[in-house]
Amino acid sequence: MFRWWYAIKMGWQQRKALKRFLVEAEQRVNGLSELTPERLEADNIAVLILDFDGVLAWHDANTPLPEAERWLKHLCQTIGEQRIALFTNKPKPERIAYFQKHFPLIFIVHSVRRKPYPQGILQVAEYKGISAHRVALLDDRLLTGMLSVCLAYSQGYYFTKPYQHYLRHPCKELFFSSLRVLERCLIRILG
Ligand SMILES: [Mg+2]
Repeated sequence: MFRWWYAIKMGWQQRKALKRFLVEAEQRVNGLSELTPERLEADNIAVLILDFDGVLAWHDANTPLPEAERWLKHLCQTIGEQRIALFTNKPKPERIAYFQKHFPLIFIVHSVRRKPYPQGILQVAEYKGISAHRVALLDDRLLTGMLSVCLAYSQGYYFTKPYQHYLRHPCKELFFSSLRVLERCLIRILG
C-alpha cells in the first residue's frame, strides 16, 4: 500500500517528465527488435536493464518467450552480457535460475525496494561504476518502471506493446492492461 501511495505522489511530481514517454518517439520501443545495439550506442547507454513481465514474456511466465530469447541472445553476443541487467518486481526462483543458467553474466537486481523506487537502477549504476544517466531501463509501465527512471535520473525506454496472454491469466492480464490504460490517460491529461 505504501508503494502505491509513493507511486501516486511521485507520479504527480514527475508527471511532465513521464509524459515524454508518451509523446517522444525516441523514448518508446514498440517491439524488442526496435532496440538494437546501434540504438543503444547512439543513445550512449552503457547498461540496459530489462523488466520481465510484459517485456520478455507475458505476465507470470518463468522464462522469456522464444522471440525475446533470440533478441536477448543477439544483444548479448553484440554488446556483451555484462552490459545487460534484469530488474523485475517478481524475482521468482524459476526466473533467476533461468538467467543463471543461460545468461550467467547478466546482473540481477535483488534485495531492493520494488519499482517505482529508484534503488534498483541506482544499484546497477553503482555496481557497474557508472553514472545512472548511462543506464537505461526497458519497461512496460509508466508509474512503476518509467517513474523509477525519472527518480534515478537515468534513461528509459517505454515498451508500448507488452506481451500478454489472456487465456492463461485472464484476470491478471486484464488488471495490468487496465492499469496501463489508466496511467497513460492520467499522464496524458495531467502531464
Ligand atoms: Mg512489466
